[in-house]
Amino acid sequence: MGSLGRPTGWALWSAPRQVVVWVLAVEVVALVATAATASLAPVDAAGLARFGLLGACLVAHVELSRTIERKREVAAGSGPYLSTTSVWNFAGVIVLPPVLASAMVVLGYGYMWFRVWHRRGTMRPHRWLYSAGTVLLANQAAVVVLTLDPGVPATAGAVAVVVLAGGVRWFVNYALICVVKLLSEPSARVRNVVSGFGEQLLELGAMGLGLLAACVVDTPAVLLVAVPAVLAVLGRSAQVAQFRKAAETDGKTQLLNATAWTEFATHALDRTSRRGGTFGVLMIDLDHFKRINDEHGHGAGDVVLKVVAKAITAGVRSGDLVGRFGGEEFVVALPDISAVELLAVGERLRRWVAALEVPAGHVSISVGAALAPDNGLSVQDLLATADAAMYTAKHEGRNRVEAAAGLLP
Ligand code: GH3
Ligand code: MG
Ligand code: MG
Repeated sequence: MGSLGRPTGWALWSAPRQVVVWVLAVEVVALVATAATASLAPVDAAGLARFGLLGACLVAHVELSRTIERKREVAAGSGPYLSTTSVWNFAGVIVLPPVLASAMVVLGYGYMWFRVWHRRGTMRPHRWLYSAGTVLLANQAAVVVLTLDPGVPATAGAVAVVVLAGGVRWFVNYALICVVKLLSEPSARVRNVVSGFGEQLLELGAMGLGLLAACVVDTPAVLLVAVPAVLAVLGRSAQVAQFRKAAETDGKTQLLNATAWTEFATHALDRTSRRGGTFGVLMIDLDHFKRINDEHGHGAGDVVLKVVAKAITAGVRSGDLVGRFGGEEFVVALPDISAVELLAVGERLRRWVAALEVPAGHVSISVGAALAPDNGLSVQDLLATADAAMYTAKHEGRNRVEAAAGLLP
């Protein structure tokens, strides 16, 4: 089967059943929709000429952006990957007969697979096919809208139709990506699923450039000169979104790093205190972590950090902010929570971590809890108070949750 590997060996089949069913259903619907729109407009010589031109732009785009696209894919992790080649696919939807616009998607994704992905082994075939399927389906939705006013837009009304078609295309693609994310990880927070909006802006920007490309499709020289400019703009924008995310994230645990956590927590505290709400902070430190490193090695210690980070994230609400504060210290900000609830969350985390199976056997945490406005009015004060409570927990024998002085009557 060459570079796609045997389909029977694809990771898709080991995914939860609802994911497999959903992915296959989207592929089937995409193919049916493609067949249904194929006869909406006949293929003529002018259409074929435009197809050749946009196809050439797409190929040039892929060739010139290979390095940057590979980096974006690595940064996307298990999240969705949006190809910036939407420029040409959206231009195709506007000016080509639907069957040729669909052929552009198939050829484009096929070409990218062989030129960018298959030898690296970073992109999973089923993920790639799903991306191609969602784009194909989103394109057909746009095709339907464009039947209101097909061809190169020449009037304000026609441009409005293209904008509507672009909006529908974007929405369908985005919704399909969010659904598969939610199905693969039912415990994922909606906020995390819907996040990555920088990437979505990039997709909208790419479609805007696609509209411009569609308008000059019959002036090939303009189009070909535009390709490097388009790539320069999209490439830089893609990197900015990537750098911003990397700057906020702790590489080992994928939690917020200390700087980002402090910034977000400060904003959250401002918001809650302005309307008179409470704001809890939990300071969490692993017990005898040095011993784990010494006895089981640094690698095992790292695995413990990752597992504990996951448990903490799973144990708090979607609006709470979890960060890695130091080597083996974590912090959680919990807006709008009572003292009793705050301690209950701390206790739940303590129990969950103690029950974890880790390479070192078992680990435990000591937790300090502080609450605004009772224990402080700033994030710094709350951190200091929660830290002091955490040290009390250490002194009292570890594997326990301690409230800041005065938190409970
Ligand atoms: P206590 O119960 O008093 O907190 O004891 P402890 O051993 O956890 O505390 P201490 O602060 O003395 O040790 C923290 C250790 O965490 C020391 C350091 O080697 C380790 N550490 C810090 N960051 C990392 C990391 O990223 N990976 C690993 N494996 N270990 C780390
Ligand atoms: Mg420790
Ligand atoms: Mg420590």
